[in-house]
Amino acid sequence: MILKTISENSGRYRELTSLIFSDKKRIEEGKLFIPAKITISSTELLALKNDIKPSVRIDIPFNEKMHSMIKDLCKNNKFFMYHSDYKFISNSNLDVSWPIKLNSPKKGLVFYYISKNEKIAKELKRCDRGVNFERFSALLGYPDCCIEFAKKLRPGSPENHVRDAIKYDDYLWSTNHVRSFRNSKQFSFYLNKYSILGLVSHTPCHLNCKESKIYAKKLLSIIRGENKELAQITEYLLKLPSLFWNYADKIVFQGEKKGDSLRYHDFLTNLNSHIKFSSFPDHELSAKLMKIASMVGKGDMLENSKSNIRIFKNSKLIAEFEKPYEFECILTEPNTN
Ligand SMILES: [Zn+2]
Repeated sequence: MILKTISENSGRYRELTSLIFSDKKRIEEGKLFIPAKITISSTELLALKNDIKPSVRIDIPFNEKMHSMIKDLCKNNKFFMYHSDYKFISNSNLDVSWPIKLNSPKKGLVFYYISKNEKIAKELKRCDRGVNFERFSALLGYPDCCIEFAKKLRPGSPENHVRDAIKYDDYLWSTNHVRSFRNSKQFSFYLNKYSILGLVSHTPCHLNCKESKIYAKKLLSIIRGENKELAQITEYLLKLPSLFWNYADKIVFQGEKKGDSLRYHDFLTNLNSHIKFSSFPDHELSAKLMKIASMVGKGDMLENSKSNIRIFKNSKLIAEFEKPYEFECILTEPNTN
């Protein structure tokens, strides 16, 4: 089995990406924008265009080229756009992000606040960074139940005292993903946040959230109308099991999951935190993930227990990796529509 990383040019990867990024022509025509490697934004913008979201916030590297692309895109689609007065940098391990000056030499991302309604775009910018979390989330079209869920995970919330021990001031991605996972008996593929592509940008209160599914189904049918192949590949990927560390690091499998173990015959890695969090690279984690991926390539079954990941070939143990804590990574598989 060949190790397939997102940066490798394996046949299947090319096949997948040519479908996933088949909107290149549209970008050139200024119709639809997909920043490289940030696939969610394109679907977010489609959602905005088709009125299933009042506004979107997308984060992209701050430079003139990107800025003028976004500007053109908004002009062509009659979107109003504001951007944050700061850049932000993130650390994957602590799931922390914080602002730096726009003119800082450090690499960072900038938020763009986009809506068909100028007042809404402006208000979204004003409400960001915890100024008014509920309003901010509502402007992005998130369901009330999921806003309530995320609110409890915010800084200052009594249910979040452990996290308050860490210095941070922004939305906490991966841990929210884990909480959502732990809240769920049923896991709809429409709400799969652990794959390479996704339909919902918020973290659902649980993985079978009715309101979130209504939105995800609408979006998938819009994508289908725009690009049938992209819809097919999205649906296919979302139904597969995956091993998920954080939103930048996961491995998606073709295989069968039973409890904590997974028998597989192929997989696709998406291990990107060293790129996405380049301001604070965690070399130790990156090295570990690469080793895991390489051993996964040699095996045909894995077990994800509370304390370790074990990889087998023909039922023989070939590798074992300790986990510093139970939820360092989770093994997930959607079990319902
Ligand atoms: Zn919900």
